Amino acid sequence: MNYATIKNCDIANGPGVRVSLFVSGCTHKCKGCFNEIAWDFDYGEPFTQDTIDHILDLLEPSYVKGLTLLGGEPFEPQNQGAVLELLRQMKKKYPDKTVWAFSGYLFDRDMLGGRIGEGTVLQEYLSYLDVLVDGPFVESKKDLTLRFRGSSNQRIIDVKQSLRQGAVVLWQDWQGNERGLK
Ligand code: SF4
Repeated sequence: MNYATIKNCDIANGPGVRVSLFVSGCTHKCKGCFNEIAWDFDYGEPFTQDTIDHILDLLEPSYVKGLTLLGGEPFEPQNQGAVLELLRQMKKKYPDKTVWAFSGYLFDRDMLGGRIGEGTVLQEYLSYLDVLVDGPFVESKKDLTLRFRGSSNQRIIDVKQSLRQGAVVLWQDWQGNERGLK
């Protein structure tokens, strides 16, 4: 996997101050995409153990609430293994920091429905997530007033609750009471 950018003080992509990883490669090709340059899987730098170590260092300060995965597409089958290794090491070192991810795939149809990736890898990957913002960017549904979303079709999903209940539980349901996420 390659990655495009790492931001160490991101306050736009999840609650609190976060470290954000923008991976390379995306097959969705949404019209009006904010990051078209990252569609290319070869864009940017190779993602290595040194990259993981760097991200772990950036996550260390107590004011950093967690990690956010964006792209590109962090759920493309060929990106899942590298991201999973990062998540394993991150949760081992910082079990209380949260993980947010943004994907053009749908949580229920594509991820739980087995349309992308290999079952056990994706299952473990999802087990580390707190929140997933899912669905492609749809230009006709673009809404600048939305929190953490580009278009109104996208959903902010509480992954742990959804996996527990076997149904999509929206994170918005928890607004004003964002337990464990701040
Ligand atoms: S999923 Fe995201 S990165 Fe991929 S084309 Fe759509 S908006 Fe761009």
